[in-house]
Amino acid sequence: MNKENAWLKYNDEEKQKIFELSEGYKKFISECKTERECVDEVVRQAKELGYTDLNDYIAQNKELKAGDKVYATNMNKAVALFVIGEEPLEKGMRILGAHIDSPRLDLKQNPLYEDTEMALLDTHYYGGIKKYQWVAIPLALHGVVVKKDGTIVNINVGEDDNDPVFGVSDLLIHLSADQMQRKASEVVRGEALDILVGSMPLKGEEKDAVKANILKILKDKYDIEEEDFISAEIEVVPAGKARDYGFDRSMVMGYGQDDRVCAYTSMKAIFDVDKTDKTVCCVLVDKEEIGSAGASSMHSMFFENTVAEIIALQGNYSDLILRRTLQNSFMLSSDVNAAYDPNYPEVMEKKNSAYFGKGMVFSKYTGARGKSNSNDANAEYIAKLRKILDDNNVTYQTAELGKVDQGGGGTIAYIMANYNMEVIDSGVAVLNMHAPWEITSKVDIYETTRGYKAFLENIN
Ligand code: MN
Ligand code: MN
Repeated sequence: MNKENAWLKYNDEEKQKIFELSEGYKKFISECKTERECVDEVVRQAKELGYTDLNDYIAQNKELKAGDKVYATNMNKAVALFVIGEEPLEKGMRILGAHIDSPRLDLKQNPLYEDTEMALLDTHYYGGIKKYQWVAIPLALHGVVVKKDGTIVNINVGEDDNDPVFGVSDLLIHLSADQMQRKASEVVRGEALDILVGSMPLKGEEKDAVKANILKILKDKYDIEEEDFISAEIEVVPAGKARDYGFDRSMVMGYGQDDRVCAYTSMKAIFDVDKTDKTVCCVLVDKEEIGSAGASSMHSMFFENTVAEIIALQGNYSDLILRRTLQNSFMLSSDVNAAYDPNYPEVMEKKNSAYFGKGMVFSKYTGARGKSNSNDANAEYIAKLRKILDDNNVTYQTAELGKVDQGGGGTIAYIMANYNMEVIDSGVAVLNMHAPWEITSKVDIYETTRGYKAFLENIN
């Protein structure tokens, strides 16, 4: 069942489209390194294409009609896009879902301290990371500080060529005899992930003069006080832009491709839909990397509430119609899968691994220890998808995340499956998953976008 490499399908002219798509993608992941930045950019692009804030319809009690395009945001950290279809909503929707949070270091609520005339910011890592990967690389700060009066101060330092960068120091090899004996999970410990932000004392200051100087800079530049860190969300992420990877430029190296590669491809797919029989949706959520709990996650009522509002704006809301709408829907839960890595063949089962160049990846199930807690998609649903993808000449592959009992992972699939809708995991293969710099294949990004579009147009 080894399919032809997707690159071979295309002539030079068509390859140009693959490279063009990846240019937009690289820009997106270079500029959107937090869930908030993703939501802002998705809304900006949606508005340009004629999407309207659902709240405007709600405020005016304006009827939603076929062809209308609306978006709804949740706490600036999640967003849903809809194109209203000609058929009643209760016939079901076609839904693409992905997550826009990525592993990183978050500043603690009381982060700033001075030690031996160096100023540092204390962090608590977010999501599953190999802590040793986050030392001795340039890092940037992205996020918001919300002041007591509600003013939101946006922070973005480390991306512009003229910006300073930050970083977590690593122990020099010369003194690492003990450290090198520790197991990998403890080579760098969680509390050693503090970032160095300054070393210049403020003149005239007796105590903690370096910290005082940093506070002065923060006051001058952002008008914030030390206490304002209490109500801040500042994420420490790898500094710098996404780049082409490889002599042939066939791949992309960038931060946060889990799962912004699926978010971007899903967004591009729905942006191609103008007229549709069934209502189509793209929902991008937060907090997947820490278990999808919390108000901005897939577990929140946001999605269900938004669908209820849409039904109400079509003039016929009832609880039963909402339930039918959700149950009759089809979803692609879009998340990345592990690309086969020739450096680590021992964790992969070759027949059931995802490969670069082999297109969109489907995983019938995820989970670990006997598929535990995974949504195991129905064969009938997969058969429908196979037909749609083959009819549209989309290259796709199926994969599990590694060998049986090697590890595993979860996605948002099982949460939406609770509505009793058909759901399957699909997405793009990634090398270096959860590392500061992840790798994807440009042709896989292209095939996945085409696959999502074929799904939005055809699944029934
Ligand atoms: Mn993911
Ligand atoms: Mn992940």
